[in-house]
Amino acid sequence: MEPKVIKRIGVLTSGGDSPGMNAAIRAAVRTGFYYNIEMFGIYRGYEGMIHNEIKKLDSKNIAHVLERGGTFLKSARSEEFRTPEGRQKAYENLKAHGIDALVVIGGDGSLTGAHLFYKEFGIPAVGLPGTIDNDLSGTDSTIGFDTACNTAIQAIDKIRDTATSHDRLFFVEVMGRDAGFIAINAGIGSAAAAILIPEKKMPIEDLVEKLKVRTKAKKTSNIVIVAEGGKSGGAAEIASKVKKLLPYYDIKVTILGHLQRGGAPSSFDRLLASKLGVAAVEGLLHGKYDVMAGLINHKVVYTPIKKAIVDDKTVDEDDFRVAKILST
Ligand code: ATP
Repeated sequence: MEPKVIKRIGVLTSGGDSPGMNAAIRAAVRTGFYYNIEMFGIYRGYEGMIHNEIKKLDSKNIAHVLERGGTFLKSARSEEFRTPEGRQKAYENLKAHGIDALVVIGGDGSLTGAHLFYKEFGIPAVGLPGTIDNDLSGTDSTIGFDTACNTAIQAIDKIRDTATSHDRLFFVEVMGRDAGFIAINAGIGSAAAAILIPEKKMPIEDLVEKLKVRTKAKKTSNIVIVAEGGKSGGAAEIASKVKKLLPYYDIKVTILGHLQRGGAPSSFDRLLASKLGVAAVEGLLHGKYDVMAGLINHKVVYTPIKKAIVDDKTVDEDDFRVAKILST
């Protein structure tokens, strides 16, 4: 497609926040300045677009944000944007500011919104995968996933100390929605006894058998990682089932929850967010619309948003094999 002339770009973060969003905003804004484009911050995602929370950004707005977790543009979920009337209001506000294109940083819902908006109003958008869940195709890793895994591993290391001191069995629930990426990474990285993820059902009997074998092998601590969207239930539910079958175990449950979303982004996420922020603005300037910029094998790849959100990215089978070998 012949690129449109783009003079003003709006940047927004939407959906659940993730570490590295600030680094992505900063990179997109700095790239815009590099190409003499006026850059606008749209606060509180699509909700702010509808309520005209739009401000022109200068270099001071993006100073010292790269290293901070969260998003200084704030994030929100907007029910109104799901309606044609809401999107019409949002469009009117963009028009009033003369904004010709968008960089949308968020998860699959946010990118779906950008796709619809492009179809309806022709506002070119490049999406960036900003979610800790790593559940978007078209990128090896999403912005925030690496940091979330590091945070989970650090927390599990601490839990391991108390588990070992008391010979306890811990069930630790990690985030990830319907995807087990955080669980499998954090599980392998923290020497978990077992990892339960939504993509693979593990019968409770198999888990109990595994724990019995480990007890015989005189393992002093056992940590079972449970992904929040697991088919067999959450950590508390699984722990109570196991307690009935192994009453002699001292069992505890920890739900890591929102602490996995916070914190300074890892070096990996800073680099990923920076590369993708540049790619978003350069993509728009080269006529790449309605796409998500991702990194595959260290190279920037633009994937149609429709494909990035629909394709089911799954946990690598080989990761299961590795986890199984290492926990036996
Ligand atoms: P995360 O996966 O981290 O929660 P997300 O981007 O998937 O992030 P959602 O709450 O699904 O989070 O979506 C964020 C916002 O995107 C929604 O509040 C809504 O405004 C918009 N959005 C999502 N789906 C649609 C849709 N089908 N049509 C229009 N807008 C949508």
